[in-house]
This record gives sequence, C-alpha cells and structure tokens, in this order.
Amino acid sequence: MRFLPHRYAAMFFTTLGQVIAGRDHPAGRRAALAVLGRTYHRFGLQPYHDTAISAAMVDTVGRFAGTAWGPASAGRWEQGCRRALRLAERAAGVVGDGPQVMVGEVESRTEPVAGVAVLTVRPVRRLRYEPGEALPVCTPRLPGVWRWLSPANAPRPDGRLEFHVRAVARGVVSPMLVGAVTPGDTLWLGPPADVGLSLAAIGGADLLLAAGETGLAPLRAMVEQVAESPGDRRVALVAGARTLFDLYDAVALDKLADAHRRWLTVVPTFSHDPAVEPAAQGDLLTAALYHHRPGQAFVVCGPPGLIERARTRLPAAGVAARDLHLALTFDRAIDAARWLRRPQPADRGPGHACTTATNAGGRACSQCWTSPPTGTDGT
Ligand SMILES: Cc1cc2nc3c(=O)[nH]c(=O)nc-3n(C[C@H](O)[C@H](O)[C@H](O)COP(=O)(O)OP(=O)(O)OC[C@H]3O[C@@H](n4cnc5c(N)ncnc54)[C@H](O)[C@@H]3O)c2cc1C
Repeated sequence: MRFLPHRYAAMFFTTLGQVIAGRDHPAGRRAALAVLGRTYHRFGLQPYHDTAISAAMVDTVGRFAGTAWGPASAGRWEQGCRRALRLAERAAGVVGDGPQVMVGEVESRTEPVAGVAVLTVRPVRRLRYEPGEALPVCTPRLPGVWRWLSPANAPRPDGRLEFHVRAVARGVVSPMLVGAVTPGDTLWLGPPADVGLSLAAIGGADLLLAAGETGLAPLRAMVEQVAESPGDRRVALVAGARTLFDLYDAVALDKLADAHRRWLTVVPTFSHDPAVEPAAQGDLLTAALYHHRPGQAFVVCGPPGLIERARTRLPAAGVAARDLHLALTFDRAIDAARWLRRPQPADRGPGHACTTATNAGGRACSQCWTSPPTGTDGT
C-alpha cells in the first residue's frame, strides 16, 4: 500500500480487519481504534484513500476466505471497511498527533507468581507517557488484537517500560503475553492515553491508592512520580491480593516503602488468606476505606468487577464524588465519553445517551464508538 511504509502496513491492515470483524469487546475495540487513529493521523490518510484501502482489504480477505466468498461477502467487507475507516478518522481527532505506533523489544520476562508476568520492554524510540496512563499493546503472535496495558514505572532515563500482565482465564491476549512471549520478542506499542488516573487531574491532594491485582501497575508508577517531587503530599497504597503468595510485586513495594517512609504507607491486604495476621485480612475496598481520610483523592484500579463495586460502594460509604478516581474499563459508554476529551460539537451534546438503535443512518457514534449492528461490523 503506497501511503503506508511497508513495516506499518501489516499492523494497520490486521488491526483494521479486527475492527471490521467487530468481534472484540469495547476496551479492545477502543485500543485498536486509538492505534488506527494515530496511524491515520501520522500518515495523513484522507477519506479519498478509502477506496484504495477498501479494495486492498477486500482483495486480501477474498484470497484467504475459501469457497464461501462471493460478491455479497465482498460488499459487506467493503462497507465494513469504509465504516471502520470513518471511525479511524474520528479516533485520529481524539488521539491527535504524536509519536507513531512503535515496536518495543521484550528484554526480560519474569513470572513472580504463577499466572503473572513482568515484562521489561525497550521501545525503539523513547515513548512519552504520564504515570497512570495506559497504552494499547499488541503481540505479533496475535496480529491486530490490542489490549490496554499500563506501565508500572514512571518514565526512566533508559526509556524502558515494565508491564505487569495477569493471564485472565479464557482470555485471548493475556495468556499469550504471560505464557508465550519471551525475551527477544517484539510488541507493538500504541499511543498512551489518560484512563482516569493522572496526577495532573487529581492535583495536589493526598492520595489513597487502592490496587487490585495488576491494577497495581499504574498506581506504582504514580507513586514513583510522586517520589520525584513529594512535597507535602502523603500517599497510602493499599495493595490487594488473594493470598500472600499472590502479591507479585512485594519486593518493589517493600523497597518503595523503605525509601519513602516520610510520606508513603504501603498496606497489603489479603482477601483469602487465613494464615496472615488478622489485620492484613480482608477485601481491598474495606481495607482502603479504613485508611480513608476526608479530602484524599481515592484512586482505584484493578479488574472490571472491582471498579464496578467501587463505583457503588465508595460513594455509599461517604467518599465524595469529586475525590473518587476510578480507572476506565471502557465497559460503559460514560468511560468512552471521558476518553473522548476533544469536543466534537456535531456529536457531543450534553444530553448524549447513544444507543446504536437511535444512531440512525448507519453512522457510528463518536462518543461510544459503537457501530449500528449491521453488516460485518455488528457490535
Ligand atoms: C485502561 C486499562 C489498563 C489496563 N492495564 C492492564 C495492566 O497493566 N495489566 C493487565 O494485566 N491488564 C490490564 N488491563 C486489562 C487488559 O487490557 C486485558 O483486558 C486483560 O489482559 C485480558 O485480556 P485478554 O485478551 O486475555 O482477555 P479478554 O479476551 O479481553 O477477556 C476475557 C474475559 O476476562 C475478563 N477480564 C478482563 N480483564 C480481567 C481481569 N483483570 N480480571 C478478571 N477478568 C478480566 C473480560 O471482561 C472478559 O470477560 C487493562 C485494561 C484497561 C481498560
């Protein structure tokens, strides 16, 4: 494809193909669109490129489709491709300009506890991000399938990123990242995005950070960021795990706590471990609420179920809405609306409440990034 350098073409087309197929969940879809958007922006793609891109896509899919392929399926893929390109164009407006999607080399891989891998990745160029942000990551072993991961470290002088990945049961990507990716592998790294955890948005308040499982990663990066200029801010990091043996990052947490005793308290809590001392037993939100003080920014990151529980339980326990900062999961349209910061007056009225059914005319909604359930794009 003439408009894309060879090394990006396969990444772009496999990602586009996944978006057209529409099989992924909202978070994966949004990660893919962020990547397409940034690529669209960087290479100056325009709507008049749609015809050539769609033709190349239909030709490629047709070649591998086998006997079931015919004019009807070709037409559906072409329509789906044009729709996906419109979404990519809108995503380009959201993610804006910035570094091109890049590759990084996995330099080391450890598995501190069964099912969790710590991957140290060296991007080919320095990747600029703020602690707490997440970025779309894709292994070429699963071309075109993207997942959000959050660096566990504040930016380092050597530019390396540490990712903590838990293999989710029946997951598509995480078992591959944990079980198959080895040093020397490359990973594609997409544009970092604010996912509701940035210190810039929180301001100078004291922090109560509640981390479930690998939700610890971005919160540890935020602690490292505070460590660079702590000032008067106090930070309590409550790290939740099922048992003592599941607390995969205990060594790093101990080091942080030792180095920053003046302002940092690290509190491990174990939901299913009767062998630990009673004070360390309990679920994460209960333990975090115990440490809550008025005026603290209460930041929660972890699996989707934890975020949903925090969304209802913490306000009911008296945490003020303005103090509550929940990591985006992209499971709710409101998450997408927060992600889409850039105003798009034509689509972003204050009362927006999109359902795909109300979104007439076959257009995809720019707030919730869903397409009408027609054709091959049916989400
Ligand atoms: C902003 C953001 C940042 C993220 N950062 C990290 C990170 O740093 N490290 C990390 O390991 N993961 C992180 N995730 C989760 C990650 O993007 C994937 O969702 C996860 O790795 C599972 O992907 P998968 O393809 O294996 O499973 P999928 O095929 O995507 O999902 C399979 C099933 O597992 C559920 N699921 C997804 N995540 C979890 C979970 N944590 N616990 C239990 N069930 C789950 C899904 O809802 C789905 O039902 C982040 C997600 C978001 C939205």
